[in-house]
Amino acid sequence: MTREILYYQDNHLTTFTSTVEECRKEDGRYALVLDRTAFYPEGGGQPCDRGFLGDLPVLHVAKGENGPVHYTAAPIEPGTDIVCRVDGVHRFDYMQQHTGQHIISSVLLNEGDWATLSVHQGEEYTSIEVESSEISEENLHRVEREVNRIINRNIPVKTLWTSEQEIEKYPLRRPPKVTGEIRLVQIDGVDCVPCGGIHTSTTGEVGLVLYLGQEKIRGHVRTLWKIGERAYYLAKINQQILSQLGSKYSVPSGELLERLELQDREIFAREGELLKAKEELLDFHLHNLRSQIDRKGILTATVQVNDKKFLQNAALMLLEEGCSLLALVNRQGEDLQWIIGAAENSTFEFSQFKSNILPMINGKGGGRGPLWQGKGDSTKDLEGFFQALRDSCGV
Ligand SMILES: [Zn+2]
Repeated sequence: MTREILYYQDNHLTTFTSTVEECRKEDGRYALVLDRTAFYPEGGGQPCDRGFLGDLPVLHVAKGENGPVHYTAAPIEPGTDIVCRVDGVHRFDYMQQHTGQHIISSVLLNEGDWATLSVHQGEEYTSIEVESSEISEENLHRVEREVNRIINRNIPVKTLWTSEQEIEKYPLRRPPKVTGEIRLVQIDGVDCVPCGGIHTSTTGEVGLVLYLGQEKIRGHVRTLWKIGERAYYLAKINQQILSQLGSKYSVPSGELLERLELQDREIFAREGELLKAKEELLDFHLHNLRSQIDRKGILTATVQVNDKKFLQNAALMLLEEGCSLLALVNRQGEDLQWIIGAAENSTFEFSQFKSNILPMINGKGGGRGPLWQGKGDSTKDLEGFFQALRDSCGV
């Protein structure tokens, strides 16, 4: 039976001595009850403490009938005196999360009657689901500002015990979930709520609260918060990123957005100019090809165009304009792209020439009339390729 619950007496106590009262095997682990403990068991939305019993890491702490139950991987003989250490960084982090949540929940209620429905204290951030389907960002920024004002006022966080009969005397934010003796946590002028968790000693110990954003869940708004040192580190990292971006773009960080918007507009304008220049270049190539069509409407030509769609677009356009047979090759070094096109009324049969002409350019590909296309990787006999095509028409 645990005689002394130390975490309610001193929320900053992390090292203490104790005697093992009970030790039993449970599901492959050992469940220990100490005569006094500062280890907070999981409950009330707050995770349990971490730390060591002697040299044994504490795997979990749960509420038990005889007091908090500490789980370890090895046993300790009952009656043994041990030195116990609570992970103070982890404990303080969750004291900040928990007390910060009290303050945020009370401000949400006072500012807009947005009652807290559920709370999750995660490893990254704390979320608070509220009884509302919509809250504006402006309102939540106002809540954030008021929460930080309360933190700066450094108001004591007091705890007191009362009974079910006496509880009506207190201005509670929500009714108690337990009966009998009830523990109240009170921040004068801010919040009063039944709670068995561990809190900071003053609102000032919460340090800082940053509103991260909101999401919708079950038709309610869930607000997301960075609390305590987590908020400080987020602000620090963001400041470093802004500072680096400011150096990169040679502007104060406050002018970064304006600078990047200007850059976006410049890029958009340049892309427009580039597109126009590309279209003009393609028009030039197309014009050049038209001038090479012979009297019989046959065209064989080589181009160098950095646009994979050019051959197909050009071939379709030239056939439509009256070209009867064409073979175009787009050269990119030794690699080449080829296309052969024939007018609808043409008697040209690609299948009859495929095996003769494609080897001349080491080509592959095929298709269905009026267009056949593919790739190749030899330009040595390009003239032979073109001539073979002309020969096919008896030219
Ligand atoms: Zn609490």
